[in-house]
Amino acid sequence: MMVHIVKISWDDSVPLIVEEINDDGSGDDGSNTTTQHFGDAIPSYLQSRAEEQNAVLVETALLRNSESVVGAYAYSFSNISQTKPSYPNIRATRLAMACGLHSQRFTGDVYIGRLGYVANQLMNLDLCIRDVQNACECSPDLRHETLAALNGVNGHVTSPEWLENAAQMNYHDGASLTALANAMTRAEISDAEEESDDVSSSCSDESTPSSSIVLTKIPLCWHCRGPASILCPVCEAVYFCDALRKCRDLAWSHQCLCNTWKLYVDHRDELSSFPFFSGWQTPLLQKDCFTSENTYETYLMELGVIASQEDTPKRNWWTTELHGWAGGASTSAKDVDIFHRVSYADGFALDNIEMIPRERHVTANDADVKFDEHGLPILDSWQDWYQLRQISSSSPVALLATFPLTLYYAIQHYGSVPITVAKMLERPLRIHVVGIEKELNFVDLFREVGYLLPKESIQINMTWIVREDMLPQNSKGGKRLSLQLTSNVTLTIVAGTYGDSLDPDFDLNGSPDMIVGLNAGLYAYESWRHVVTYLYTHPNVTGVFTDYNEHSGLNCASLGGSKARKSLSMNPFRQPRAMPVYCMNLPQFSNGFVYIFNEQELE
Ligand SMILES: [Zn+2]
Ligand SMILES: [Zn+2]
Repeated sequence: MMVHIVKISWDDSVPLIVEEINDDGSGDDGSNTTTQHFGDAIPSYLQSRAEEQNAVLVETALLRNSESVVGAYAYSFSNISQTKPSYPNIRATRLAMACGLHSQRFTGDVYIGRLGYVANQLMNLDLCIRDVQNACECSPDLRHETLAALNGVNGHVTSPEWLENAAQMNYHDGASLTALANAMTRAEISDAEEESDDVSSSCSDESTPSSSIVLTKIPLCWHCRGPASILCPVCEAVYFCDALRKCRDLAWSHQCLCNTWKLYVDHRDELSSFPFFSGWQTPLLQKDCFTSENTYETYLMELGVIASQEDTPKRNWWTTELHGWAGGASTSAKDVDIFHRVSYADGFALDNIEMIPRERHVTANDADVKFDEHGLPILDSWQDWYQLRQISSSSPVALLATFPLTLYYAIQHYGSVPITVAKMLERPLRIHVVGIEKELNFVDLFREVGYLLPKESIQINMTWIVREDMLPQNSKGGKRLSLQLTSNVTLTIVAGTYGDSLDPDFDLNGSPDMIVGLNAGLYAYESWRHVVTYLYTHPNVTGVFTDYNEHSGLNCASLGGSKARKSLSMNPFRQPRAMPVYCMNLPQFSNGFVYIFNEQELE
């Protein structure tokens, strides 16, 4: 029987080639020892080429085969002598990225084959060029519009289903391997081993362990992390240092992403567009805002919401937003007392009351706004919310309200089925909000979620799951705190980690209908793995997450499979302020992009 494999030459001017090999399954040279799992047709076919090059044949699973999954394997050659230069294989590396293997780098020629069970028999299966061409030559993004845009065609460009779901399969495969490794060694897996190089660097303040926060105001080289000032001339999305050619050559994997990132950078105007606001957001829209000396602190001072350095420091929600969290040890976090209730007036501390939403439920009489079948106002922009809540367009409250409004958006936009189910069971909607340490600084602002819900019909039990070491210092004794935020929203703050110190089905106020993670960065922390695995094994639970930028959002969304990847979209309630980034110049906003795992459909 003949089987087809695809050769990806390291030289990308050479087209992808199909090679036909004889797969008689017998391993006719009699040495069935090169791999343990199949008839050796591909390895023995490639073995002679490896020997010609004085190299060792290396097999890499792009997608591991199992009883239900047809695998995909890459074969490359590792030089024994190291005398020959190894040329980067951009296309094969891009394909690996599409499969969620962000740290995989291929050099030299690479062959791709498929392997799976047919009628209980493990066998090589055909692969055609069409299957991998877009992932190899175009983008690891794989969203149909992205591929269409990069191919310069209208409509959708699709990839095979196995490829669209490979990142998800690999992530869970990794989870089982990690669990196995833990059981074998009883050793902690270090963060460093878990983080892939480029993905984690895109997840800044909240997802960076406090010990490694980089306090610098200058851009850093993508490769050496030294001071840098030169943008990649093609995508303008990444900085390299002055030793331009050297670092760019060494960081060749950027070429796998460069054209895709150019597309992301082209979304800058749309992302930066908040036409309703009266101008207070505009200083943030400049292209060089990421390298500006004008810090967030200066910006908030100019807005008059925090005091200048000479004045007595104010204590309000703005100072805590500014200082971030830093493990509960930042200047402002030390002052936070989550047992003490704060009004909007004290929290926002704005002189003009027209800048602050009033603390009451919205009703059908409030404004010219549509309501959905559950009675929730349908808000699609900051303008809708400001007008509904009669807030002046000169008010900067959106900078903080991004957190409750994004939560509201998750409920209104993706929560219809969970709301229906909760109502049928005559119990409140249960939402677990995971990894919300910084938001503890302004708990009371989340009353806004309650005010936007119809108070008679929708009750919510919101559970905030907070890392124990990140509880505010004043509340270290209280590992579980319940607050009646509004008449229809109860908030329980629980210290612990999902799936580790907490069992979501038993230790909390019932298993969740929805899980929400704001600025989650699912790749960055090992603890997110429990959340993702929970969603994977509970397909009736909806997960909604946000991320700072399109690249990180895409990679994290891909962990939920093809549907989740396609769901990635701009969040209308992103913070109207571009965030600084230090080696990537991708447009980046707090709660910038939103995506959903396990979207539910009414049957
Ligand atoms: Zn450099
Ligand atoms: Zn570039």
